[in-house]
Amino acid sequence: MKNIAVIGAGTMGNGIAHTFAQCDYNVQLIDVSEASLKRGMDTIAKNLDRMVAKEKITIAEKEKTLSNITTFTSIKEGVKYASLVIEAATENVALKTQIFKELDEVCAEDTVLATNTSSISITQIGAATKRADKVIGMHFMNPVPIMQLVEIIRGYNTSDEVTNFIVDLSQKIGKIPVEVNDYPGFVANRILMPMINESIETLYNGVAGVSEIDTVMKLGMAHPMGPLQLADFIGLDVCLSILHVMYEGFKNPKYAPCPLLVNMVRAGKLGVKSGEGFYDYSENKKAEIVSKMFV
Ligand code: NAD
Repeated sequence: MKNIAVIGAGTMGNGIAHTFAQCDYNVQLIDVSEASLKRGMDTIAKNLDRMVAKEKITIAEKEKTLSNITTFTSIKEGVKYASLVIEAATENVALKTQIFKELDEVCAEDTVLATNTSSISITQIGAATKRADKVIGMHFMNPVPIMQLVEIIRGYNTSDEVTNFIVDLSQKIGKIPVEVNDYPGFVANRILMPMINESIETLYNGVAGVSEIDTVMKLGMAHPMGPLQLADFIGLDVCLSILHVMYEGFKNPKYAPCPLLVNMVRAGKLGVKSGEGFYDYSENKKAEIVSKMFV
């Protein structure tokens, strides 16, 4: 298997394309937007330059990795020879089911269809196709070239054969796959999001400030980053939408998003990407200054 198509050239898609291309797979990187494809390829080149500077790879390896990637704006053209398609387009159920419907029509019969979704049901995405046994979750972590984990999510109908194939492939690209079943939040977000939500609730209740909460978790639990800083990095809108999926999926109030999180998203305070969340990022991307809102 040499051809892997990646749909979406954003944060995750370009990282996935980079990782496979560096392991000598031919990657067809597909996006509806030419500008996203250009930004994605620029990001890959910049990240490879950093690896060259750190002497982790040679200039020749960088050039080879880049030459392993071809870009497309048409799904039909891009997936023509792919044995595996990994979808990493915008997190939206209607968009993803539409993409999988199209993939089912245009891909070869035995092509495996994976999705990098953080929160949408794999079973639901699989149901949009006539090959639910070949639809699987491949949840990479950001930044993909660096993070070792791939959460492999089996939908209700995903076959053992396809699961084993994806587990084996993840190991081949140097990742550590962990197999989980398809329930809201899978495992990573089912545990992470309640922790983030509880840390926001702790702030909201006035138990402690932003720096205090993050310091307790960093120094006390040996987390590399405090939960509020991590929420800023993930994006507060993304955290809110994953909590909604779990709240709806389990109908359990323990997943109800904290009103402060809801308000911050409404106010456009989304974290690093909007320049302000629990910390102020107008000076730099490091979480050094607590947002004025909490002082
Ligand atoms: P992003 O917004 O950075 O990129 C999404 C890309 O998809 C954009 O370039 C957009 O142009 C493209 N796109 C939209 N519609 C398309 C279509 N019909 N065909 C082809 N391309 C299309 O998003 P992201 O952060 O890379 O997230 C992508 C997926 O990965 C989401 O499902 C998200 O839940 C998941 N995910 C994200 C993270 C993260 O930390 N960002 C981590 C794990 C999983």
